[in-house]
Amino acid sequence: MPFSSRITEFIDSIGITKYNYAVEAEPLKICKYGDAVLKERAVEVRDIDQRIIDLAAAMAQTMHLAPGIGLAAPQVNESLQLVTIDLSVGEIPEELLIVINPRIVEAEGFETSEEGCLSVPGYSLPVKRSARILLQATLLDGRELRAEFDGLKARVLQHEIDHLNGVLIVDRVSPLKRTLIRKEISHKRKSGEW
Ligand code: ZN
Repeated sequence: MPFSSRITEFIDSIGITKYNYAVEAEPLKICKYGDAVLKERAVEVRDIDQRIIDLAAAMAQTMHLAPGIGLAAPQVNESLQLVTIDLSVGEIPEELLIVINPRIVEAEGFETSEEGCLSVPGYSLPVKRSARILLQATLLDGRELRAEFDGLKARVLQHEIDHLNGVLIVDRVSPLKRTLIRKEISHKRKSGEW
């Protein structure tokens, strides 16, 4: 099943039928480290209107095509508190999680693991995260979500929430490593490789 029909089904399944998804839409352009939008604090979503629904669908499609397991709106140049996550990368429709204005209410334990980021392509960096989180967020259909997450999903959620606060994995490594990566990337930018 093409992904675009899956997302239409997903949106139908959460009761948003007014939505008319542009089938086979072009994936959105993903911003890279160095783009100003990635350093901004994203704006809270107040109304889940058609624009937000369209953006969420386009983000999910972009994430799947990239391919990636998480995407935050600032990564597609929209400074909004909207995140898509799917550990199955489009294989299991129920795995797609779209959250609006996510907040970590409680956190427990620590784990360090390598993370990549679609906005920092080619880098895999060790990042220390909370092992378990209690998340509060709004779903696309307006329902409030309050749920516990652990393992990779907790990690991805923390990574995406970092994006909403203008924080990237590069900001989470040691100062020495950060300086090296920044130099490397600015070199790549100058030579047009970034
Ligand atoms: Zn990222």
